[in-house]
Amino acid sequence: MARRNNPHDIFMYIDMSGGPDACWPFKGRYNEKARNCYWSMGGRTVIPYRVVYELYHGVTLTTEEHVLHSCDNAGCPGGKRLCCNPRHLYKGDQLQNSKDMKERERHGLPHLSVRAIKKLIALGLSDKDIGNRFGISRRHVNSIRNGVVYDHVSMEGLTDEETARVEIAAGLRRQDDETA
Ligand SMILES: [Zn+2]
Repeated sequence: MARRNNPHDIFMYIDMSGGPDACWPFKGRYNEKARNCYWSMGGRTVIPYRVVYELYHGVTLTTEEHVLHSCDNAGCPGGKRLCCNPRHLYKGDQLQNSKDMKERERHGLPHLSVRAIKKLIALGLSDKDIGNRFGISRRHVNSIRNGVVYDHVSMEGLTDEETARVEIAAGLRRQDDETA
């Protein structure tokens, strides 16, 4: 019989090597089609950082309760980076989620993100797809595409590693170190 994970086992799939304040990337499985990271627990598929949030706070989340990230690693392009550090997680609702989105747009994106977005645009990804990856609206991506905002930020200047990450996100490059 296959072994079933307990909630605490999640930490075996999280890279905590950066220390208490760093982002803790999820090292587990990635669903290529759904483009999300997941973990199996008790025969169910669960979202890893929700499990961490529940353990850390000793609560059980309802499906209406959303766990949000205060850091930038809320996504898992290519199955990498999704942050599971409970100190970077907080509970919000859909409204909060869209407020966060607006807040991020108002205060500006890191130039690294803008360069990555421009690269993904050049690689042919849709505004919606890119928006989902970066937690910004489709319209905001479109204004980057059309040079309405961030016209001064060039997509040049990404390091090889950053370019690789972008290409993995766009599905143009396979990860060699993928463990199933
Ligand atoms: Zn984080």
